Amino acid sequence: MRLRRLFLLAGGSLAAAVTGALISPRLVPRSAHAAPTSREEAFTVTHSDEEWRRLLTPEQYRVLRHEGTERPYTSPLNNEHRHGTFHCAGCDQALFSSQTKYDSRTGWPSFWQPLEGAIGTRRDTSFAMSRTEVHCSRCGGHLGHAFDDGPLPTRLRYCMNGVAMTFRPASA
Ligand SMILES: [Zn+2]
Repeated sequence: MRLRRLFLLAGGSLAAAVTGALISPRLVPRSAHAAPTSREEAFTVTHSDEEWRRLLTPEQYRVLRHEGTERPYTSPLNNEHRHGTFHCAGCDQALFSSQTKYDSRTGWPSFWQPLEGAIGTRRDTSFAMSRTEVHCSRCGGHLGHAFDDGPLPTRLRYCMNGVAMTFRPASA
């Protein structure tokens, strides 16, 4: 509770998010020694850079393979409210259920929980920030970042690039 209040006092959601990512026990690897990085992780789906460039649209390639960030409020998936599943645009792995999607008012599709085993995380210290990078566990494609300012029941916010995902509505 004390920390929560500090977050509110900090005012900026970014400050809260960064601090949150730093202290969240859920986002800290169980053992620093065993902490995987994208380079050490073995992915089931692999392609050469040239193949990825051919398989993906330029924007998908920029985000998934070079950790780009789409402009907020540009993804049609922000307004996707049907029941279904969000998949990796790189390898089609199922990543998030629509049941865990919520409106974070950030301009990016946000979820409070990924599907089990669907994602990997690592520390991202780019732009002088310490954030938790989120990628697909199957192809390693960059999806977005996770923060500690989400809603119950997890209080996590998986802030995803819509362009890195596809949506498949649940069959009737
Ligand atoms: Zn993937």
